[in-house]
Amino acid sequence: MNDSQKIAALQECIDSTTKICVFTGAGISCPSGIPDFRSADGIYNEKINGYYTPEQIISHTVFMKEPELFFDFYKSKMLYPDAKPNDAHKYFADLEKRGKAVSVITQNIDGLHQAAGSTDVTELHGSVHRNYCMKCGTFYDMEYVKNCETVPRCSCGGLVKPDVVLYEEPLDENATVNAIRKISEAETLIIIGTSLIVYPAASYVRYFRGKNLILLNKSSTPYDSNADIAIYDDVVNVVHQLK
Ligand code: ZN
Repeated sequence: MNDSQKIAALQECIDSTTKICVFTGAGISCPSGIPDFRSADGIYNEKINGYYTPEQIISHTVFMKEPELFFDFYKSKMLYPDAKPNDAHKYFADLEKRGKAVSVITQNIDGLHQAAGSTDVTELHGSVHRNYCMKCGTFYDMEYVKNCETVPRCSCGGLVKPDVVLYEEPLDENATVNAIRKISEAETLIIIGTSLIVYPAASYVRYFRGKNLILLNKSSTPYDSNADIAIYDDVVNVVHQLK
């Protein structure tokens, strides 16, 4: 199939099914100005303080032992308060408004699917918009964390922790169960902007029992041969060609 035939085939999959699951990674938020952690030019290639890699900094160990270093990095590299949903986020939110049962599973922590209007969103890695005092559980929003000069503290003195899955931490069990259920119930599964190399995305795809498996990524992935359609393009370009 050439590119326009692939787009037509994707359109047919969307039109002919009702239960559509969209599994998204960093690639869907790149056009909103949020960098891909793991791409060749992503921030994971930078070294901070000449010693820690970014993966080490956003770990549970560093959060607990060196919260200043953690929040210095977190606030400057992981919070994008001005980021807005792009046309890809909006397309799937709009599809839901038009009557499709669209469930979104995302590895992103930016909240942009909800900002676009999607109501059924499973966040595998948490969200920067939720932050809790580790002592008393009081909720704080992203602005509170962003605007704290150093380490965000609760009025009770407790450390405020972002509800984001850090390295060394397990995924939320409810989110995992939800994701597997949504994938196993879907007729069409569209995987967007993730290489599928990162755990657990790849292991979840095995639960898909539906008709159409579509991969939409800028470059090829190890799972392309399992897909009914694999499209290599920017996701915004693709949705601009869809109805
Ligand atoms: Zn507190």
